Amino acid sequence: MDHFSYRNGVLHAEDVAIPAIAEAVATPCYIYSAATLTRHARVFRDALAVLPSTHIAFAVKSNPNLAVLKLLAGEGYGADVVSAGEMDRALAAGIPAAGIVFSGVGKTAGELLRGLQAGIGQFNIESEEEGVELAAMAAGLGLTARAALRVNPDVDAGTHAKISTGKAENKFGVAYDRAAGIYARLSALPGIEMRGLAVHIGSQLSSLDPLEAAFAKMGDLMRAIRAQGQVITHMDLGGGIGVPYKADEVFPSPAEYAAMVARVTQDWGVTLMFEPGRVIAGNSGVLVTQVVRVKEGVAAPFVIVDAAMNDLARPALYGAWHDFWAVTPGGDKMVANIVGPICESSDTFAMGREIDVMQAGDLAVFRTAGAYGATMANTYNSRALVPEVMVHGDQWAIVAHRIDPATILAAEQVPDWLK
Ligand SMILES: *Cc1c(COP(=O)(O)O)cnc(C)c1O
Repeated sequence: MDHFSYRNGVLHAEDVAIPAIAEAVATPCYIYSAATLTRHARVFRDALAVLPSTHIAFAVKSNPNLAVLKLLAGEGYGADVVSAGEMDRALAAGIPAAGIVFSGVGKTAGELLRGLQAGIGQFNIESEEEGVELAAMAAGLGLTARAALRVNPDVDAGTHAKISTGKAENKFGVAYDRAAGIYARLSALPGIEMRGLAVHIGSQLSSLDPLEAAFAKMGDLMRAIRAQGQVITHMDLGGGIGVPYKADEVFPSPAEYAAMVARVTQDWGVTLMFEPGRVIAGNSGVLVTQVVRVKEGVAAPFVIVDAAMNDLARPALYGAWHDFWAVTPGGDKMVANIVGPICESSDTFAMGREIDVMQAGDLAVFRTAGAYGATMANTYNSRALVPEVMVHGDQWAIVAHRIDPATILAAEQVPDWLK
């Protein structure tokens, strides 16, 4: 459910007509709906209320915009961060350090230090080597790092290969069979308090079955580790719930997810931690674009839009589908290829798609662009870094300014020997 809808034939974000924003900010630009974000945050949080003790850490990588983080901080969300840069954003948004989980397969020594100094709530360590390094660093500073060991449960998430993370061959976590031994050795070190296990098997999951299988395996491992004498007070179940990108798709609801978690974890006696990203932010955003021109094609015309793969990378990266809606549809349909201006054939949003009839100058949106959208943007082809807007009722504000090619050019210089 989201707050993007047509009123008198014009697509609105909450109470604001999208053409008004497009005119003021220019296109392409992202628009987030605060009401949609708030709603998703509450639905997820309320669903988990059936569980005895929980902590929800929003996966910052899905949408790191400061205003988005500020809104979620106000809803009581912590943050799951994967770099010092994301940690700084979460702290800047007012998320308490104690509510931040530091994940990531390649945290540098500098990042571990920054996390320790900030008083991060939990480090999810991804190898024995990282745990040893963190423990030594913390002990040297007279600190204790709270940590969970990320385990690779060797479960197929059944999602796109590039966003699967829980198969044995993936780079994430420690091997399931080695985890109990690593946990015991790290628990014996000064400077580190091993308090639990973490798992995250992938993103955009359409079924709860792989999650349930992974959680059941984690429960077995938790019992085995406790039986060998170590303590486990926290279990981090990661993120991964998918969202519908097409109107007719059905995904597990937060309530169904919570019921499954309650069933699997009923005798665990731990604080359960969650790292949702897409399910909170995905449907809360759209990418607004303007048609540059429509060009004749062989099988279908090309609708060339002013947004490109540098602004929204998911179709080029994963072959992802984003619904494409005219902002002021006339009622007629056409079959077209939707492409951006970038000089790569991968800069294609859709082929042979039935869409509203579009002409040069028309506005349209790519829907469900609130997660893994603006955060993956870059400036390829010397394009601007795309701006972001947030709507709240009848108010709206720019929450990330467009960074023009001239600003990026100004950061470059020619060495003396070429002058
Ligand atoms: C990406 C990621 C998440 C969030 O995944 P979603 O599919 O967006 O919910 C959570 N935890 C970790 C460790 C991640 O890498």
